[in-house]
Amino acid sequence: MYQIRAYNIKHNYNLKEFLEAYRLLIQRAIDEIWNRIEWIEKFNREGRKRIIPIILKDGCFKHHELRNMLLINWEYSKHYVDSAIKQAYSLLKSWRRNYIKGERSRRKPVVKKRFVRIKETLYSYKDGVIKVSIKPHEEYLIFDISKAWFLSRAKGGMGELILNENYLTITYRRRVKGKPINGKIAWDSNEKSLDGFNPKIGWIKVDLTNLFHIHRVYELKRKRLQTRASKKPSLKAILRRYSKRERNRAKDFVHKLTAQLAKQFRRHLHGFEDLRKEEMFNKSKNHNRKVAKSDWKVIQAFMDYKSRIEILNPKNSTKRCSRCGMMNAPKGALYKCKCGLRMDRQLNAAINLYLQMEGLSPSPKLFQGLMRGWSGFTLTGEEADEGFDELARSPRLMNSKSYVCLRRLRNPEP
Ligand SMILES: [Zn+2]
Repeated sequence: MYQIRAYNIKHNYNLKEFLEAYRLLIQRAIDEIWNRIEWIEKFNREGRKRIIPIILKDGCFKHHELRNMLLINWEYSKHYVDSAIKQAYSLLKSWRRNYIKGERSRRKPVVKKRFVRIKETLYSYKDGVIKVSIKPHEEYLIFDISKAWFLSRAKGGMGELILNENYLTITYRRRVKGKPINGKIAWDSNEKSLDGFNPKIGWIKVDLTNLFHIHRVYELKRKRLQTRASKKPSLKAILRRYSKRERNRAKDFVHKLTAQLAKQFRRHLHGFEDLRKEEMFNKSKNHNRKVAKSDWKVIQAFMDYKSRIEILNPKNSTKRCSRCGMMNAPKGALYKCKCGLRMDRQLNAAINLYLQMEGLSPSPKLFQGLMRGWSGFTLTGEEADEGFDELARSPRLMNSKSYVCLRRLRNPEP
C-alpha cells in the first residue's frame, strides 16, 4: 500500500513571467473549450427544466486544433501546452459537476493561482538533482535535493512536481506497512461533537464546542465590522485577514485534536461519513452547518494523514434503530424506538455506522453482544436512573479543550 506525501523546498528562481504565461495559457484553453460548449435543455426528476453544458472532448480538437492554437507564440517547452489542456479540462469538469449540483453559476471559470504541475515523465532526476526544462535547450531549473530527508522514505518513487513562485513541491509515494488493526471506531459527525463507537471502548464523545466558538467569535467580529464601516475600502482586506485567521485557528484546533485521537486510538480504523453523500440527504442552507461541514472535511483529511480511515455511507444512520433495524424519525437528542430502545441519537447513529463498518445488520441479539463488554453507562448520556429500563451507560468524554481524555461519568463495572 502506498500513500502520497509532499515535500516542499523554497527556491530563488524568478518564475513570475513563466508562471503568468502559463496561467494565461490555461485560461486561453478554458476560453476555447468554453466557446465550444453545447448547452442543451433537460428535465430533471422533479420535472424542472435545466440547461446542461456538454463539453467537447473530441480527440481531434483536444490534441490537434486546440493544441496548435495554444502553441502559437508559446516560447516555453511544448509539454506545458499539454499540461495546460489537461488542467483546463479538469477545471471545467469540476465546474460542470458543481454547476449541475446547483453550486456554481453559468459563468466561465477564471484561473487565478499561478502554479504549474509537472508530471513525473517531464522532469529528470539523477544523482540527487531534479532538472526541469522551461525553454528547450535554453532554460532549465535545477534543484539539488540530495540532502532531503524524504528520499529515504520515498520508496515508491517521486511523482508530480508542483511549482509556484516560491516553492517546489515534490510529491512522492511512501510505502505504508499494512499493520493489523486493533479495532474499528465509527464516528458520527455533529456540529458540536464527534460521537464515536467501538464495542470495547464504548461511546466516545469528542467535544467540539471550542471549534464552534472559534467560528462564532469571527462571525461576530465580521458583523461588528460590517455595521461600523460598511463603506470603507479597507474593509475587504480586514475581512480577508479575519477569514484567514479563522481558518488557521480552526485548523490548529483540528490538528491537535486529530493528533490526540490518532494517538489514543492507535491502530484503529476510523470510519467517517461520506460528506458528499450526506449532502444528498440533507440539503441544509444553515450557515453553521456549512461551517461544521468544512471542519469535518479537515478532520477527515487530517485523520487520513495520521491514521487509517474508511469512508461510510451516511444513509439512514440517524433514522435506523441500531437494535432492531426499524426506521424512526428521531426528535430531539433522544432516539426512541418501539422495541424499547432509548438512546442518545448520536450514539445510535455511531452504532449504525459501526455495524456498516463490520458489514452487519442490526438485530437485538447482536446489539446485546455489542453492549456486553461495556456496562455501567447510560445510553442517553444522563446519570443512570434506576427507574428506567435502559442499559446503563454513558460516554467516555474527550474534551478537546485540553485534548486529553478527561473523565468517565461513572466507572464501568468489571
Ligand atoms: Zn428498535
